[in-house]
This record gives sequence, structure tokens and C-alpha cells, in this order.
Amino acid sequence: MISTHRFDSERCTRCGVCQSLCPVGAIDIGRQEINHSRCIACFGCLNNCPAQAIDMRFLGSRLTGFFAFLQERSIVIQEPAELSI
Ligand code: SF4
Ligand code: SF4
Repeated sequence: MISTHRFDSERCTRCGVCQSLCPVGAIDIGRQEINHSRCIACFGCLNNCPAQAIDMRFLGSRLTGFFAFLQERSIVIQEPAELSI
């Protein structure tokens, strides 16, 4: 189902966010490699990449990370007042 899962080297800034958040250590920024046999498809790298540099496709269509999805549609999620300090 996930047909592609790779770095978009033109967009990637090598910030390291995806590597630090991957729960199974499947990302090697230095080599620009994703170990697909380790990956559990949690979408953490896709959702948290600030540069939209994770190229992940499902049934051939490129997926959009959560924060990018909100930004593209100008969606603002308001936190409940109880959570503000
Ligand atoms: S989070 Fe995005 S920009 Fe940062 S290293 Fe990973 S793929 Fe590259
Ligand atoms: S989808 Fe999840 S498990 Fe797979 S490489 Fe990205 S952060 Fe790691």
C-alpha cells in the first residue's frame, strides 16, 4: 500500500527532527536512508518534518503531513483555555 517512502533531497534541510522522533530508529539522516524493514508506518516523520521533505505515497498518491495539511487549509486548532498557562 505504501509505495514510496523516501527523503526528498531537494527539500530536506537535514534538521534531524525525523530521526530523533522515529520510535524504531529507522532513519539515518547522514545516509539519507529509511530502513523499510524497521519502519512501522507511524507517520511520525511525515507529520513532523518542517520542510515536507518526506516523500510518502499511498496507492500512488503523495501524502501530506498533519501540520502541513492544517497550514495548507488555514486550519487553526484552538487549545482549550484550561491548557493555556
Ligand atoms: S525532518 Fe524533514 S527536513 Fe528534517 S531531516 Fe527529516 S526529512 Fe529532512
Ligand atoms: S513512519 Fe514512523 S517508523 Fe517509519 S520511518 Fe517514519 S517515524 Fe520511523
